[in-house]
Amino acid sequence: MDNEERQVAGLTVQIDRLICVGFETCVEVAPELFEMDDEGIAVFVADTDEVTAETVLESCRECPVDALVVLDASGDQIHP
Ligand code: SF4
Repeated sequence: MDNEERQVAGLTVQIDRLICVGFETCVEVAPELFEMDDEGIAVFVADTDEVTAETVLESCRECPVDALVVLDASGDQIHP
């Protein structure tokens, strides 16, 4: 799948897997939410445990290629 979406901490997070180049910084900041797949591309972990909206946003802001999109509860894009 080229795009994955997950509702978490009141936010919607999307991974654009065609843009992701595997820097892994999202995993370092939020291992509760992201992991790397066999191809070295980010995916969501199977079960997202407790993760705060702050951590979600911080991890997405750290992505150097803006592969992670965040929408708020109203569906407005708040990152990037
Ligand atoms: S930080 Fe961005 S480029 Fe790096 S693994 Fe996560 S989504 Fe991919």
